[in-house]
Amino acid sequence: MSPGKTANISFDDKFANIINGEARTKSDNYHQGVNPTTGEKLWDVPIATQSDVDEAVASAQKAFESWSVKPIEERKEFLKNFQELWAGYQEEFTTLLCKETGKPRQFAAFEVGAVGAWFGHHLSLEIPEERLEDDEKIMTTRYMPLGVVGAICPWNFPLVLSFGKIIPALLTGCTIIVKPSPFTPYTSLKAIELAQTIFPPGVVQVLGGDDKLGPMFTEHPGIAKISFTGSIATGKKIMAACSKTLKRVTLELGGNDASIVRADVDIEATAPQLVMGAFQNSGQVCVATKRIYIHESIYKPMTEAMAKVAASLKVGKPDEEGAMLGPIQNQMQFEKVKTFFQDSKDKGYKFIAGSGDVEKVDGGFWLQPAIIDNPPNDSKIIQEEQFGLILPVQPYSDEEEVINRANDSNAGLGACVWSKDEKAAERIALRLQAGSVFINSFEKPTPQAIFSGHKESGIGGEWGTQGLLSYCNPHVIHLYKSKL
Ligand code: NAD
Repeated sequence: MSPGKTANISFDDKFANIINGEARTKSDNYHQGVNPTTGEKLWDVPIATQSDVDEAVASAQKAFESWSVKPIEERKEFLKNFQELWAGYQEEFTTLLCKETGKPRQFAAFEVGAVGAWFGHHLSLEIPEERLEDDEKIMTTRYMPLGVVGAICPWNFPLVLSFGKIIPALLTGCTIIVKPSPFTPYTSLKAIELAQTIFPPGVVQVLGGDDKLGPMFTEHPGIAKISFTGSIATGKKIMAACSKTLKRVTLELGGNDASIVRADVDIEATAPQLVMGAFQNSGQVCVATKRIYIHESIYKPMTEAMAKVAASLKVGKPDEEGAMLGPIQNQMQFEKVKTFFQDSKDKGYKFIAGSGDVEKVDGGFWLQPAIIDNPPNDSKIIQEEQFGLILPVQPYSDEEEVINRANDSNAGLGACVWSKDEKAAERIALRLQAGSVFINSFEKPTPQAIFSGHKESGIGGEWGTQGLLSYCNPHVIHLYKSKL
């Protein structure tokens, strides 16, 4: 397939489940996502049934027989062809992503472009093979694809988090069935419809549905692995369900990322970074900064500078001039984030940006960013993941004490340290209980490094070579030198 718009696909009406290479629009039941900027329902999505799941699994198992034994270079060719095809549809996917998530267009375009980066890095990876020899024998360790993967995805980055599973799974020789979040099914359904132009039937499929669909995946004996990204609460249910068939699981779960700001930083340069780290994607990022600890000697000027930056961030619709922050993606999350505003207001915490007054505007799920000044350690906003536009800041004086405060969480996904003194920052970073620690940057996951959570933020990890190997079983041949 040559680059460009060579697929016969429409973007504005029909959305289908993709089973065995076919687009299935018919179902007894349909559901709809909601445009979060207006509260209006979007298009119909057919709700997949148990028999759809069974059919997709059978097709994926069949496809696995030939896909898994292709040389990796051949599988890379398929992936490269899809990457080229994808590059011709940036506009269409950006517009669709804006509709289903409400993201400002520049950030939706960034997510669509990031899928290309995920392809790019993974296409440079090889599956390692290790050979050890002694006098008696040769041991060769290879990594064999697991089989059919079920990808269960969240709504905050519908494309990059689906492709973050599809690309490594297909590269290793697995086949995959994607289940997008019911809040944001559209871009995944279309992307996988587009993929049928390139991949043989059954290699990559997608099923949209309601709350009953995820458990059909986790229970299914024909699925070898669940790669899940979502909340800690759902992750626990998934692990319990997968234990019945001893499926492999990768769990990428929630975070409560701490950011530690040392006294030596440049306030004007750092304040915008701290604010964007917390409020990127309207705070709906698993590794968004969720608590900030600022050295007491700069606490006042830094929080004043942050409040100014927060007030300057325009909240608006995807195509509004200068919009930096979109709405909360769905009603459920909107209600949840409002409880953090309400609790902070009820407890009398000081809002140094925004206010505790939140109203639904034009039917959309709109909030203005808020910063809370020094709430107590046991407050809801410090203890729980807010996943929205509200951020607590606290002062600290002692390095040891602030490390303990940062680590005092059930979560351990990401963290940040800010300092001109890189050695001092690294000394702190090494003590932080998190899968990814960023020095002098807010949290920016990349396909090059494994992304994983400590503590309740996850089991295993994805991306990088280690992430790739999570789609494989190790397989060792012990060859005894023949004396026969
Ligand atoms: P969620 O757990 O509510 O849903 C995630 C997915 O799981 C959806 O597709 C949902 O339909 C499905 N699901 C729900 N119940 C299920 C069940 N019992 N069995 C199988 N599947 C089920 O999460 P969400 O609200 O979509 O996403 C927000 C959460 O995800 C936040 O906590 C955020 O921090 C986390 N997250 C983590 C990462 C990461 O990489 N660590 C990335 C993005 C989001």
